[in-house]
Amino acid sequence: MEKQEVKKVKKIKKKIKIHKKAVLITAISLILIAVMVSVCFIFFIPNVKLLGDRVITLKLDDTYEDSGVVATYRGKDVTDEVKIEDNIKYGKVGTYKITYSIKKGIFKTEKKRTIKIIDDIKPEIILEGEEEITLCPGKEFEEIGYKATDNYDGDITKKVEVEETDDKITYTVTDSSGNKTTVSRKIIRSDKEGPKITLKGNSTMYLNKGGTYEEPGYTAVDNCEGDVSDNVEVEGKVDTSKVGTQIITYKVKDKSGNETKITREVYVSSPNGQGGMIYLPFDDGPSNVTDDILDILKKRGVKATFFVINQSDNLNYLIKRAHDEGHTIGLHSYSHQYNVVYRSTNDYFNDLDAISKKVKEITGEESKIIRFPGGGSNTISKKYSLGIMSILTNEVLSRGYHYFDWNVDCGDAGGAKTKEQVYNNVVNNLSHNRANVVLMHDFQNNYKTLEALDDIISYGLANGYTFAAIDMNTPLVRHRVNN
Ligand code: ZN
Repeated sequence: MEKQEVKKVKKIKKKIKIHKKAVLITAISLILIAVMVSVCFIFFIPNVKLLGDRVITLKLDDTYEDSGVVATYRGKDVTDEVKIEDNIKYGKVGTYKITYSIKKGIFKTEKKRTIKIIDDIKPEIILEGEEEITLCPGKEFEEIGYKATDNYDGDITKKVEVEETDDKITYTVTDSSGNKTTVSRKIIRSDKEGPKITLKGNSTMYLNKGGTYEEPGYTAVDNCEGDVSDNVEVEGKVDTSKVGTQIITYKVKDKSGNETKITREVYVSSPNGQGGMIYLPFDDGPSNVTDDILDILKKRGVKATFFVINQSDNLNYLIKRAHDEGHTIGLHSYSHQYNVVYRSTNDYFNDLDAISKKVKEITGEESKIIRFPGGGSNTISKKYSLGIMSILTNEVLSRGYHYFDWNVDCGDAGGAKTKEQVYNNVVNNLSHNRANVVLMHDFQNNYKTLEALDDIISYGLANGYTFAAIDMNTPLVRHRVNN
């Protein structure tokens, strides 16, 4: 037992000895290897050192100049032998490398530099239309249009995000590099425009005393609210027992408080001529203004008288129209030539018969209402037949004609050069206590009378006059005979 144990101990001691030896050998070997590697580095492996930063960031348009490397080998500068390679794409966003390498024998050294090309320019958003938009309260905004462009990505309109709040529309776009642009449109909710009221019927109406006024109606449309006719308030009443001007007021307010007010004027006049009668005879037509005269008379509901002469047959339709619209067609003269008409009684009646026949052919009715060329008081007839007017003025009456001179002269055949003069010549000479027969002309291009006509009618109606066509019951207005 003892012997055996001693043997064992000897064995262990021997083992430890051997082990110590191995450790020592290994350590020495490692040191030797380290020395050899160092030697290799110093003597066999080339050395490359980067100049400048390892990572460089460039903007798209930047130009880049590389600061290079310094290379040494066995203590000597071998920078010239360094091979430089890169994968840079200038003008393109990306991360690139520059590789510097040198090889000596079996040893190769490589260094890398990182080049980042970035886009830091924001996209641009262009709004079509105004940047500030006024909308009706509650009305939905309708996009007018926009465009987004980026220096790098080009057209990126499709990437625009639109956000809508009650008072603002926000447009946001981000380019592929994350640059973000935001623009906005201001929305102003406001309605400053009142509704528009449209009157049915005429805004100026003419009624006979004792007649019935029926409201012709109205419509009202608001720019924001649409049809608001039901909200219209009508103020005022027409009392047809009173002659004169009466005003009806139409008012409407929209929800924003904009009020619109318009009026209709109603003229009540006395149909029995109590306020005075006005007869408007137009001499020497028809002409190229007859149509317009008839339009005004029609619009105003006024009847007048046309003392016609033999004009071109192309104008016959105007005589027909005047007749059909309730105006009186009076006989003035066929030729309207004093030297023919006033040569003799016979000549006068031949001429009168000729125009009478023509009128009857056109209208189907025989007219017995006449006006002498130059009027009953003319003196020019003396030149052709002395005393002829004294004969004719009696003879026409005995033949059943009524002839009419005038007591108001609008001056359109003489002094009146403007429509204002025509108007004043008429209105300043009207009288409430008589039949006012006005001398007016239906001449070719007689625009002064045409332009004054509507105002003359307004004045007459507003002042209680009644307009009428001359008929066989009209009081004869005659001048003193001078030949
Ligand atoms: Zn005449």
